Amino acid sequence: MIAEDVWDLATHEQRLETPAVYRPGACPRCQAKLHLHDLRVRLLVGQAERCTEVVRFRCADRAQCGATWQVLPAFLARCLWRSWAVVASALEKGEPSPVAPRTRRRWRVRLASHAQALVEALRVDSGALVGALIGAIGLDARRIELVGHYRSVSGAAAGGALAELAAWVHRLVPGIRLM
Ligand SMILES: [Zn+2]
Repeated sequence: MIAEDVWDLATHEQRLETPAVYRPGACPRCQAKLHLHDLRVRLLVGQAERCTEVVRFRCADRAQCGATWQVLPAFLARCLWRSWAVVASALEKGEPSPVAPRTRRRWRVRLASHAQALVEALRVDSGALVGALIGAIGLDARRIELVGHYRSVSGAAAGGALAELAAWVHRLVPGIRLM
């Protein structure tokens, strides 16, 4: 799960002082209550702060469900072990980056791949923003074009655009990755 109201490390660390504030309303699978389960160390590769923690909650209905849910603040890139700000700066060609060249190449290739799955996810949302985005890029676009148009429509900075778009598609179709 992504906490879409936490956009920087300072806010996140402050919340970790009272981890229960991250508690979602109910278990997404069975709607039972969720209990605070634990804190897991989360690496922040390529940042001065080497790691932080993320909160996990466990479904109160252990017999029937027992699901565990991790709540990731929106500024962290799921599965990439970095903040979206670090990812965005690593994607800028010619910029010095703490991210290894082969990782940067892999990310660029992913962003150059077709955006079809993402566009289909976004179409679940019927808002005006989706209409503007899909109208501008068409159905055949690549992910990088989707990100670029999202930036121009939303006015977000590069890292912010990646984070917002990633959180948005995940909310519409849980599990889908921007890159
Ligand atoms: Zn449950």
